Amino acid sequence: MTFPPIREELRGIEPYGAPQLDVPVALNTNENPYGPSAACADDVAAAVREATTTLNRYPDREHVALRTALAAYLSRDTVPTRGFEIGVEQVWAANGSNEVMLQLLQAFGGPGRRALSFAPTYSMYPEYARDTSTDWVQGHRAEDFSLDLDRARETVERERPSVVLLPSPNNPTGTALPPEAVGMLCEAAGDGLVVVDEAYTEFRREGTPSALELLPEHRNLVVTRTMSKAFALAGGRVGYLAADPAICDAIRVVRLPYHLSAVTQAVALAALRHAPELLGRVDDLRRERDACVGWLREQGLTVADSDANFVLFGTFADRHALWQDLVDQGVLIRETGPDGWLRVSIGTPEEMVAFRDALLTSLDRLA
Ligand code: PMP
Repeated sequence: MTFPPIREELRGIEPYGAPQLDVPVALNTNENPYGPSAACADDVAAAVREATTTLNRYPDREHVALRTALAAYLSRDTVPTRGFEIGVEQVWAANGSNEVMLQLLQAFGGPGRRALSFAPTYSMYPEYARDTSTDWVQGHRAEDFSLDLDRARETVERERPSVVLLPSPNNPTGTALPPEAVGMLCEAAGDGLVVVDEAYTEFRREGTPSALELLPEHRNLVVTRTMSKAFALAGGRVGYLAADPAICDAIRVVRLPYHLSAVTQAVALAALRHAPELLGRVDDLRRERDACVGWLREQGLTVADSDANFVLFGTFADRHALWQDLVDQGVLIRETGPDGWLRVSIGTPEEMVAFRDALLTSLDRLA
C-alpha cells in the first residue's frame, strides 16, 4: 500500500484554503477589515485571564452561557418582526460554522444518504459530504446566479437529500435567496433538513428577511450563522445554529467531548457584550460594497449583485494572470467561482482605493 495509507478518495487532494500571503491589502477571505477597539480587546483579554484560572478543568461541554447569550442575540432578529424568542435549547455552537455544518452532516448525512446544494456555491460543502461519506448531489443556479425555484424544488423532490445546503447570501456570488424560497424548499425536503447558511446575512440589503423567522413553521429548518464575518471575530472561531431542539440534541451525539474550549467560550461571550461595536461597521461595509459594484460596472465589467461583504466580477480570459498581477501590486483577492470570475472582499475605504488603482493598472497592463 502507498504511504501514508490515506482513504483512497482523499489521495492527492489539496487541502482547502485560500493562499495566506503577507501582502499590504488582503481582500480574499471575506473578513471584516475593522479590528476591535482597545477597550474591547481589554475586555476580551480580561475574560480570557479569568478563564485561565480554571484551565486545569474541562470547559462546560454544553456551553450553556454562550448558547444563552447567542439565543438572546438571535432573538433580536425574531422578536421585533415575529414576536418570538429563540430559546437556549434551540442553539448550538462550534469552532466556526464550518464545524457546525460538518457536525450536521455527521449526524444527518452518512453512507447511503445525500447532501445537495446549487452551484456555484461555497466550495466547502462537497468537502463536508466527502468527509462524512455522504453522497454529494450538485444542482445548478441560473445564469445570473439566482435559484430557479421550480427547478430547485424538482431537484429536491427527485433526489430526496437528507441535507440541503442553501447559503443566503451565497458565496462566492453574493446572491440572497428570495423570501419565498426557504419555506418552499423546507416543504419539498420532507424529512430532510434544509440548512440556510447565513454566514453573511448581516450584510444583506433591505427586503430579505432572515430565515430565522420561519423556524416556528418548519421543524426541518436549520439556520447557521458565524461570528467570523460581520461580527469581526474570524480568529475566534465561533459559529452557531438555531433549529428545533431535537436537532441540537442529535448533534450532541456526534460532537467531540468539550469541542469548544474554555478560552473560545470566554472570547465569544466577551465579544457578544461588545456586539454594537463589533457590528458597527456593517453599514459602512455595505455602502463600500455598493460603491464597488457600481465602480466595477462603470469599468465595463460584469458584476453579480451582492448582498454580502464581497463582490464577484469578471469575466476574464485569463483570471489567474490578473489575480497574479494584483498580488504583484500588493493586493490579494480570490480566484474562485466559475471560470473567468474573481472575488474581492470589501475592505476599508483606503484598501478599496488600493484595489481599484491596482485593478486599473492590471487591466491596462494585460490588455
Ligand atoms: N459559510 C460560508 C458561505 C462561508 O463563506 C464561510 C467562510 N468562508 C463559512 C460558512 C464558514 O465560516 P466560519 O467557519 O469561519 O464560521
